Amino acid sequence: MIEVSDMEFSIPVELPLDADGFIRRECPHCEQKFKWHSGPANAEAEQQPAPETYYCPLCGQPAGLDSWWTREQLEYAEEAATPTIMEAMDAEVDKMFKGVKSTNIKVTRTGRLHTPEPPMPITEPNDMVIVTSPCHAWEPIKVPEERTGRLHCLLCGAAFAV
Ligand SMILES: [Zn+2]
Ligand SMILES: [Zn+2]
Repeated sequence: MIEVSDMEFSIPVELPLDADGFIRRECPHCEQKFKWHSGPANAEAEQQPAPETYYCPLCGQPAGLDSWWTREQLEYAEEAATPTIMEAMDAEVDKMFKGVKSTNIKVTRTGRLHTPEPPMPITEPNDMVIVTSPCHAWEPIKVPEERTGRLHCLLCGAAFAV
């Protein structure tokens, strides 16, 4: 779920997960792709507090929770939210016109804002391999097969090998 904010509007947009429940992520530092599990992956994960920072499994650099969207996800979320934003703005313009009251002037609204069609849904292929770190084993990640070897724990950044 991503929140698209535009002025006072905040629109939740559903993003696709792969068949194992993982969401694609892009590191803001090294721009490499990996995946993390969307929501707690198991009962043990449910007991853990939600972290505010995640570490890139590939380069080990930390970033805030909201820094890992892929370019495709951001573009999709913006497109998906646009019709809702336009409809809300259209309703606002209607209200403004209703607020124009004068006995001598008659104001009528003729045009509507152009509301674009929602985008085609994006799909998430079930690629990459699942790995877990020895220190935070309840938080599985997926990395490209050719990138296994030296990795970093998503939660604490500790290096480990698979
Ligand atoms: Zn990285
Ligand atoms: Zn760890």
